[in-house]
Amino acid sequence: MKEVEVLKSVENYSVGNIGKFDDLGQYEYYHPLGKFNIPGKVFVGEALDMTSIEMSVQLLKAGAEIPFDHKHKSNEEIYVVIKGNGEFIVDDERIPVKEGSVIRIGTKAKRRWRNNSDSDLIVMVIQGKEGSLVNYNVSDGYM
Ligand code: ZN
Repeated sequence: MKEVEVLKSVENYSVGNIGKFDDLGQYEYYHPLGKFNIPGKVFVGEALDMTSIEMSVQLLKAGAEIPFDHKHKSNEEIYVVIKGNGEFIVDDERIPVKEGSVIRIGTKAKRRWRNNSDSDLIVMVIQGKEGSLVNYNVSDGYM
């Protein structure tokens, strides 16, 4: 099974590589709660020592779907569609998505998604603690 390539990890930064998006199908994530494998899914947070967010990238082949609803205990999720078309189901509402779509889903909403198209769907998923952001845009930076 393919793993994140960690190129450098020092105190203040980490550098990794997940490979080409076309090769995401080489990843597989074993879901410890569901006790099944999710093909095409890679988490990068632990490999790169992330401390405030989790990030994953997932390839769903044509016609594939995440076969379960889930919610989160403390993290909201942001889904960024990198490639393709699909559909998110959030609290039973169906939301069509396409390349460039960005969806934020709060902890209490149940969600799942599927690729109802005839080509690959690639989605980046970012988890961050709900309600923890203190500064938007560049206001947290300083020079
Ligand atoms: Zn989730």
